[in-house]
Amino acid sequence: MSHAFANTLKSFKTASGKSGSYYSLPELAKAYPNVSRLPVSMRIVLESVLRNCDGKKVTPEHVVEVAGWKAKAPRLDEIPFVVARVVLQDFTGVPLLADLAAMRTVAKAMGKDAKSIEPLVPVDLVVDHSIMIDYFGSKKALDLNMKLEFKRNLERYQFMKWGMQAFDTFGVVPPGFGIVHQVNLEYLARGVHKGAAASGQPAVYYPDSLVGTDSHTTMINGIGVVGWGVGGIEAEAAMLGQPVYFLTPDVVGFEFSGRLREGVTATDLVLAVTEILRKEKVVGKFVEFFGAGTESLSVPDRATMANMAPEYGATMGFFPVDDKTIEYFEGTGRTKSEIEFFQAYFKAQGLYGMPRAGDIDYSQVVRLDLGKVTPSVAGPKRPQDRIEIGNVKAKFASLFSQPPTENGFNQPAAQLLTRHHVRPEQARSDETIKVPTTPSIVPGAPRFVEEMAANKPTLAAALHEAEPKLPVASEKTIGNGDVLIAAITSCTNTSNPSVMMAAGLLAKKAVEAGLKVQPHIKTSLAPGSRIVTEYLTNAGLLPYLDKLGFSVAAYGCTTCIGNAGDLTPEINEAITKNDLVCAAVLSGNRNFEARIHPNLKANFLASPPLVVAYAIAGTVLKDLMTEPVGKGKGGKDIYLGDIWPTSDEIAALMKFAMNGKAYKANYDKVASEPGPLWEKIKGVSGQVYDWPVSTYIAEPPFFEGFKMVPQITRPGVKGARAIGLFGDSITTDHISPAGAIKESSPAGIWLKEHGVIKADFNSYGSRRGNHDVMMRGTFANVRIKNLMIPADASGSREEGGVTLFQPSGDKMFIYDAAMKYMAEGTPTVVFGGEEYGTGSSRDWAAKGTQLLGIKAVVAKSFERIHRSNLVGMGVLPLQFQPGDSWETLGIKGDEKFDIEIPGELRPQQEAMLHIHGADGTNKVVKLILRIDTPIEVDYYRHGGILPFVLRQLLAA
Ligand code: SF4
Repeated sequence: MSHAFANTLKSFKTASGKSGSYYSLPELAKAYPNVSRLPVSMRIVLESVLRNCDGKKVTPEHVVEVAGWKAKAPRLDEIPFVVARVVLQDFTGVPLLADLAAMRTVAKAMGKDAKSIEPLVPVDLVVDHSIMIDYFGSKKALDLNMKLEFKRNLERYQFMKWGMQAFDTFGVVPPGFGIVHQVNLEYLARGVHKGAAASGQPAVYYPDSLVGTDSHTTMINGIGVVGWGVGGIEAEAAMLGQPVYFLTPDVVGFEFSGRLREGVTATDLVLAVTEILRKEKVVGKFVEFFGAGTESLSVPDRATMANMAPEYGATMGFFPVDDKTIEYFEGTGRTKSEIEFFQAYFKAQGLYGMPRAGDIDYSQVVRLDLGKVTPSVAGPKRPQDRIEIGNVKAKFASLFSQPPTENGFNQPAAQLLTRHHVRPEQARSDETIKVPTTPSIVPGAPRFVEEMAANKPTLAAALHEAEPKLPVASEKTIGNGDVLIAAITSCTNTSNPSVMMAAGLLAKKAVEAGLKVQPHIKTSLAPGSRIVTEYLTNAGLLPYLDKLGFSVAAYGCTTCIGNAGDLTPEINEAITKNDLVCAAVLSGNRNFEARIHPNLKANFLASPPLVVAYAIAGTVLKDLMTEPVGKGKGGKDIYLGDIWPTSDEIAALMKFAMNGKAYKANYDKVASEPGPLWEKIKGVSGQVYDWPVSTYIAEPPFFEGFKMVPQITRPGVKGARAIGLFGDSITTDHISPAGAIKESSPAGIWLKEHGVIKADFNSYGSRRGNHDVMMRGTFANVRIKNLMIPADASGSREEGGVTLFQPSGDKMFIYDAAMKYMAEGTPTVVFGGEEYGTGSSRDWAAKGTQLLGIKAVVAKSFERIHRSNLVGMGVLPLQFQPGDSWETLGIKGDEKFDIEIPGELRPQQEAMLHIHGADGTNKVVKLILRIDTPIEVDYYRHGGILPFVLRQLLAA
């Protein structure tokens, strides 16, 4: 069939005269003039829709719809977006590889060519989530942490090695190279892709685009690539050639003007942007940056901004391609030819250069003068709670005694400055010193101090004592506000040479001034690529970071993902025994309570140089704007301004950071020198995996009984029992937790039965390649409340994944009840409240639901991705009519249910819920079927997206 828009296929020439073809947006704009006013990100989406218009998955109507995008309009249509590639991190990548392997097993069993199962777009898995900071503060830390990582994850890494040799389009960046989004930015993203040649024309070029199985995939938006994080099920479909469907978005334009002031970092800027955009409510929208101020930002600064799109709630934080992007490509070792095509393509499409005000129609415009951004941290519990540095001490002091409803820690104010010995047998107050009650500006304070001090509340007002006292952090005592973890971590910042150089420079000045970090503070440097170590070494800064304890401890997510490792037992005991509010300071992007360490309640996000400064200070109860960071040589007071690097000092070192040859040499090693630990691993070979016995990797059962023709059963459910009645905001973590596995839980019992001792349980996250663990972990969150269990005398509800098996009413684990229902052939349903499946997209929340035999989830509303994942796994999502809920209908959990779907299955049709009460009463209510699109009807009819895609591949 000929392309419906064949007339838009044109050719372009590069600077050196090479040519390529492309689906021309300027040509399309002749018929649809609105195209030239579209946001740049929407035009890149439009190019994909135009190029992939095949009349089936993508129709001419889709092209017309996107070409006609209006800045302000109701958003009802879904866009089928075919991406150029997929990136994975290892927590989500392993289960996805297990599904692909299972498809090959099915293909072989059916006498088909196993090679017919092959990702249709390139897939790169970067192993970054598994390393932990067990060792720190020593040059040996990296080596020791990696050895432990390989020991813990051997079976998973063997499986990845099988994947590497079995699939042509599946690549692995082994452990020890870096973090997925930084590696993507520095290496995997190549600008434009070269496709097949059209008849009589040169090869078709198209812009890079992707989805990734990690929410911060958006970091790649910093170099003009459209892409975002999705769940594993969607990523799997995308890699097998299915479009990613998303609702037509609003696009919020964010105009930067001015320039960042001296001493202000990209981290300060992103915290300000996050605060602003949270208030603007950009959830589900694209954010696109533009204007002269945006043009002044370096690409690493833009990438830092793009990285935190999930924190400000947007689908993307997009930066158009311009000269700075090209400079970045040159500085990071992309080839001359790649860069030439990249630039020529974007120019031909009219997509090159930073738009100015009025060029584009945005749904809404937000503005920020970069000159107004001030040095800040964010916390202590949420990334959007920005605090200027000069207010950190006062803010912590006031939150200390405020109630949880005010984001406070609910502690007695009088306890703030009490210090406790790190000894199990006692806690006593001692060691306090006096500080001035009024802040004064000191000669050594940073340049921005004067303005900040003008708005600052006096310390006397903020602290809860007439004579405030400042704790002295010491090896022997700890107290509230003490910094116990200081981590230079997260691709958000480690991808940005200017803030990393700033941290190194600050360390150098601090060491030279005689400052130290106390040894009990867990300090770490975990770059997102080896390039960071190389430029810090070449700039002569690494020895100073080493000296302060910031030795390279890992190349991976570490503290950012909660892999900070433990504190010493003595410190843990002192914290828990005395209910202390101690702190972590990290250059990460998330700081929810217990994410960084279960015992650290206050977590501050800060730029890498501030992480070093707070490590030296040892407490957040020291005002770095007015008080010395510490005592230097000869007992001299050293202020932040004495050690804070200038922009000129940082700029002078940037030549070490942007060295194309060094990037190329580093990433060539992914293939040529992947590392001795990785090379030693023996992977299974062959096109089909032989599924050796493992508690980490097992053949998933999603294709059991697979036939080429789907077994069409009438949609609906008959004679079902309720397995759970849940309230509002049940998260995917409630449904499928990622963290620790309890010994007494079904998953813990299963692991022990299979010879795994408690110490080796690892987490649910690392065991996502084994369905036996994951289905036992479904609804096993220790905090989930099944409201089918009656409240106790005090009105409290039991927590944990338990239910009442019906009709006996016996209480048992949800997993055990599910198995009993399945054994007797009884289908089950779940009832939920508002926002069912909210939180991180997690495909095991839908996969686990399906494996427990749950046929339908009936809720007041659904989170977008979880709803589509349920359909993708063949589970019916149904929504109550407005005003209805399981509570208003009087459902208790001992009823039987029928769900009737009349006529042919259609998107969003009406369904009927029949409730047969245990007392013989009957009730019927209307529901809305939340299968939302025609393609989802197909997925459901095939028993889910995986069998649907498998049938297509095997039939081809
Ligand atoms: S460092 Fe943090 S933001 Fe980056 S990929 Fe890892 S967990 Fe995600």
